[in-house]
Amino acid sequence: MRIFISADMEGVTGVVHRDQLVPEGKTYERARKLMTADVNAAITGALREAPGAEFVVCDGHGVMRNLILEELHEAAQLVVGPAHPANKPLCQSQGCDETFDLAFFTGYHSRAGTPGGLLSHTWVGAAVTNIRINGEIVGETALNAAVVGHWDIPVGLVSGAHELEAEARETIPDGFVWVGTKTTYGPTAALCLPPAKTHKLLNEGAAEAVRRFKAGKLKPHKPKCPVSISVEFHRREMAAKAAEVQGIERVDERTIEARADTTIAAAERAWKAVCRAEDEEPGWLK
Ligand SMILES: [Zn+2]
Repeated sequence: MRIFISADMEGVTGVVHRDQLVPEGKTYERARKLMTADVNAAITGALREAPGAEFVVCDGHGVMRNLILEELHEAAQLVVGPAHPANKPLCQSQGCDETFDLAFFTGYHSRAGTPGGLLSHTWVGAAVTNIRINGEIVGETALNAAVVGHWDIPVGLVSGAHELEAEARETIPDGFVWVGTKTTYGPTAALCLPPAKTHKLLNEGAAEAVRRFKAGKLKPHKPKCPVSISVEFHRREMAAKAAEVQGIERVDERTIEARADTTIAAAERAWKAVCRAEDEEPGWLK
């Protein structure tokens, strides 16, 4: 069995503030240890139900060099490096392909504009107001579920702060295991479980996800194709630059659209457009 793990950082327990999310931050080193341990807990749990399973983990946050390889479970390989379209056109789902059976999303966060959401954003907080798939507003959970769904891979596990649960249940098929790591108070504060507890929950959650997969209870997220992924930017200048990318249409002042026959083609194009939208190449892409 092969399991793909897309790992973000904002939804890891204890992580509530930007200082923890960037390499310059004073508390970043602790946060990346917490992130790595969450991933290991999910791997260990899955292995109980699927001995010999193989894992590919995509580091899916910011500079995408957060997870600590020397601490990662030996059953996993790690996708490391910035999500420049020349490197990682599938962004947080880079490394996934048709050889995988099941996907886990750990450390995920709620979408841009979530009222009172913890560290909420979609893809790039500084640029993106909303992303829509076939007209429906989505966050990174549904975006990446649609990408792995291209290969009929279902999402078995999603973990993050409590408000992400409703978003995930509304936008991806039922059946996945939800693991809440903290209860959000507001944009930069939460009531956090200690890692000793979230590791147990992730371990049990991942084992249950494998059991549900084996019982045929999980469905892949497959938006209707040809598919439209549209990106509404904060500023019209961003949409103008993004529209320079081949295959991108400008829909209105602040919105562009990628239409394609497959979710992966549309997602790749939309990601390229988002990367192009900024005046200068941002540090996290270099
Ligand atoms: Zn992130």
